[in-house]
Amino acid sequence: MPGTRYPLEVNPEIPPRLARLEELASNLWYSWDRPTRSLFARLNLRLWRATNHSPKAMLKRVDQYRLKEVADDPIFLDTMNRVLMAYDAYHATPATQELPGKPPLESTDLIAYFCAEFGFHESLPIYSGGLGILSGDHCKGASDLRLPFVAVGLLYRQGYFQQTIDRDGKQHAHFADNDFDDMPIEPVHGADGRDVLIGIDFPGRTVWAKVWQARVGNTRLYLLDTDIEKNNLADRDIAHQLYGGDRHTRIEQEILLGVGGVRALHALGLHPTVWHINEGHAAFFILERIRDLMDQGQSFATALEAAAANTVFTTHTAVPAGHDHFADDLVMHYFDSFCKTTGLDRTTLLSMGHTGGSNDFNMTALALRGSRFHNGVSRIHSEVSARICSDLWPQVEAAENPMDYITNAVHVPSFLATDWYETFDRYLGLGWQHRHTDEACWSDIQHIPDQIFWSIRQSLKAQLLHLVCNRVRQQQRRNQGSEAHLDRLLRFADPANPTVLTIGFARRFATYKRATLLFNNLDWLHEILFDTQHPVLFLFAGKAHPADEPGQQLIRQITELSRQREFEGRILLLEDYDLHLARRLVAGVDVWLNNPIYPLEASGTSGMKAAINGTLNLSVLDGWWGEGYDGKNGWAIRPAAEGLDSAQRDAEEARTLYELLQDSVIPMYYRNTALGYSPEWVAMAKHSIASIMPRFNMRRMVTEYTEKFYAPAAAQWRKYAGENFAGARQVAEWKTRVRSAWPGVHLRRLDQAISRIRFGETLRFEIAVQLNGLMPEDLTVELVFTRPRKVASTKVWHHVLCHEQPLEGGGHLFSCELTPEQCGKMEYRVRAYPSHALLTHPFEMGMMLWL
Ligand SMILES: *Cc1c(COP(=O)(O)O)cnc(C)c1O
Repeated sequence: MPGTRYPLEVNPEIPPRLARLEELASNLWYSWDRPTRSLFARLNLRLWRATNHSPKAMLKRVDQYRLKEVADDPIFLDTMNRVLMAYDAYHATPATQELPGKPPLESTDLIAYFCAEFGFHESLPIYSGGLGILSGDHCKGASDLRLPFVAVGLLYRQGYFQQTIDRDGKQHAHFADNDFDDMPIEPVHGADGRDVLIGIDFPGRTVWAKVWQARVGNTRLYLLDTDIEKNNLADRDIAHQLYGGDRHTRIEQEILLGVGGVRALHALGLHPTVWHINEGHAAFFILERIRDLMDQGQSFATALEAAAANTVFTTHTAVPAGHDHFADDLVMHYFDSFCKTTGLDRTTLLSMGHTGGSNDFNMTALALRGSRFHNGVSRIHSEVSARICSDLWPQVEAAENPMDYITNAVHVPSFLATDWYETFDRYLGLGWQHRHTDEACWSDIQHIPDQIFWSIRQSLKAQLLHLVCNRVRQQQRRNQGSEAHLDRLLRFADPANPTVLTIGFARRFATYKRATLLFNNLDWLHEILFDTQHPVLFLFAGKAHPADEPGQQLIRQITELSRQREFEGRILLLEDYDLHLARRLVAGVDVWLNNPIYPLEASGTSGMKAAINGTLNLSVLDGWWGEGYDGKNGWAIRPAAEGLDSAQRDAEEARTLYELLQDSVIPMYYRNTALGYSPEWVAMAKHSIASIMPRFNMRRMVTEYTEKFYAPAAAQWRKYAGENFAGARQVAEWKTRVRSAWPGVHLRRLDQAISRIRFGETLRFEIAVQLNGLMPEDLTVELVFTRPRKVASTKVWHHVLCHEQPLEGGGHLFSCELTPEQCGKMEYRVRAYPSHALLTHPFEMGMMLWL
């Protein structure tokens, strides 16, 4: 069509009676409050879908007459008022609010949480997957618990792409520009009423970022945006695309997030007492905090101790290659001015990011050196991480190093289907929303009559199948498939008759997640799927990173298989997995399948979303399922024995999968009684909710972060920062002293080792310690007792030796007397390690000496 197209948008006037809709549209509270979303959907369902469920975009485009109409519609007004009442109740601050934690947080405390992506809702597309959903849920949980909490992230012009899949299974990634005006965010204004801009030093220029905020219930997320006129064209594009661009772009994004994030908080007058790095991308904030403290006159060592003392670092990756790293020269290109202004030398700066003699600057290493609280995201993952990161604490065994864990969780109101609410109100009692972590509350789930439980499950499945039919229809039309063929494709996905056992697999198509394990033995799969009495429908969904060729190959493979005549209609691949589809899928399928390569699934959270909705998990015992599975709440695929090659391992684990499907899952689902449902299935699903809900919800997780990390980190900060950082200086100087003396410290046993005694007898241990200039109180000398492996208990216990006196001819005597309280075989070892009252973790120096 000839001629220029000039854009024009006509915005309606919001009638005064509906004024507060704007408030509802600009608080992500709607992302977990379904009645709010339904209210907006009622304005115009088509527009609701067209705007990707964005209340703010709706209010800009909905018809003026429609607004007039609802402003006089008693039903709409009544619904709106109910939503507003709930909204106000949620946001009203109770008069006395005990801050959680042990020791408790103080009223002046503030936690700043940094992450490269946040996934709250599809209307704010600045996330790509699990990490983003988790950080979004973390903010929601902090809001629910009224933690003093702010989050910091980047405002991307392009979030994750929208996905279509063509006839041949080729993935097409569509990147659409975000219109910030349509998103539930607003620019932050300073005291002068103007936008808050912060400057970050880049080589030869200052890059400016505008600060936006998203309201997340009681908390705020600040987002940095470089797409402003004050920047040159290239810099405007720094935050163009989430995880986009080359290494330069990535480091620039990470500098923007880390360095810019600190500056933004300070520009807003916020001075956090706890800093949380959620995955290494944000770790540069450590350097910015150090620079800040050095500006105030502290030495580098003191500044590092101070900054680390109240920093929490959560790692989410289970493969070393997954850790973000940059070439040294690239880092120096950007941090040259940092060295110049702080006077720090290049080697010291780079050593913050080095591990094991490499010449790569590793963001995980920086994060670990700059934090004293570190965790993985499940028990299994923390063991893996402790091994991967063991270089940081070279003399400490991985099992004892400071890598702790806090298992991930999900924000229940965001992922629990509305259909459950009324039933839970009735059978668990009102207020169950506040008792997510209460096991007794959830065991009441047994009171829900089986019939009702089953019918809710069926109804959730029907809703999902409805969505599936729409999506598959759309996809078929786009790919020029015939209508008649469509009937065939959708014959098992019938919303009117949701009786077919439906199994879901949806996640990023990363190869370690093994989306195609199910197809390992096609004959066997064929046999399973071709039991005409017991049909099974598999639903797949997921995106592959556009640069991940093997991941895209998986999509092609699944497409091909799903087109083979014998699998047609039994395997459907849905496009564009996002939060919206995720919410429907996890709740609507009967079984949630997850079969990653052990131990590469750091945690996984989609299985938790499934479980809280009564969907049963069928998963490899990895990540969270290693803790969640109790033998009766789903099915476990045990990892094959170590030492097999990958093909053998896949074959083994696929075999377990087929056997479980054939012997347990399918027969149990179809063991229909006269009641019209499978009582065994319902019993397992109820037990799954009761056992998983209280443990894998955000209230538990955020409370655990608060008790284990936030409150202790805030307390450490007070100890380190008081009196002009006297504590931090003391620790820094002490560490320097210990580091230089340690190689000369020696242990020697003076007593005769006795290897057999009678119960009740007392042993005396005497150790001579060559202190090499250290003071006796600079270290702890202790005995570590264990039982031999064969004895059931693997308990370890410690006994500290006391300093007695200097020995003639050098050295110091440490001794203790001990009367063993148990009989039987045991072993003990003697060790020494540096100790200081101000240390955050007893082994944080990574030094340990064994006799
Ligand atoms: C929950 C969720 C994820 C993460 O799930 P995993 O189990 O870690 O794969 C990814 N994407 C979306 C859209 C989700 O909702």
